[in-house]
Amino acid sequence: MQQHVERVLIDREAIARRVGELAREIAADFRRELPGDVPEITLVPILTGSLIFVADLVRQLPLMMRLRMVTVSSYPGQATSSEGAKIEGRLPEDLSGQHVLVVDDILDSGNTIRLVRAELLKRGAASVRSCMLLRKQIPSAMAEHADYVGFEIPDAFVVGYGLDYDGYYRNLADVVTLKADILGEGEAT
Ligand code: 5GP
Ligand code: MG
Repeated sequence: MQQHVERVLIDREAIARRVGELAREIAADFRRELPGDVPEITLVPILTGSLIFVADLVRQLPLMMRLRMVTVSSYPGQATSSEGAKIEGRLPEDLSGQHVLVVDDILDSGNTIRLVRAELLKRGAASVRSCMLLRKQIPSAMAEHADYVGFEIPDAFVVGYGLDYDGYYRNLADVVTLKADILGEGEAT
């Protein structure tokens, strides 16, 4: 697997440091803005890509929280772009009054977060914030509002730390690019 790696874009130490910073920032914001000694939030991880990120993040968030996972698939299925997004699985019907933090792996076209945000607001969420591990420095991603962003990255296809290519490479500890001869046959899910 390591021999498929072209370049390490963000190593595990940098990720760990940044996840800690994000957690502190998020906790401080919610503490300031929500009532009560221990604010309560609803965390909505977008699976499968945010799995590892969210596992690291939540353990550093000293807030009362419930996790409501949602799976969103991008289509038409190209690895590097998504023309649309579709929710698979059910979101809770009633989120009235809940303060939601959506967590995703990467902001690319913005279709995923726009869809999820709209669905959460439709269900009565009092507020919806978003936390993305990565944001591509491309117009569609930079134009999309994100409350928390871990890293801005160049417009490249990346895997690792939860992100896949054809279902593989999620277990790489660093965020990396793959060699050109590996890309071309599969797709991100
Ligand atoms: P958006 O809906 O913003 O276009 O893209 C979000 C989803 O597309 C991500 O959650 C991820 O599943 C997929 N995606 C976009 N760019 C990449 C990438 O560089 N690598 C991988 N593995 N998935 C990506
Ligand atoms: Mg995804």
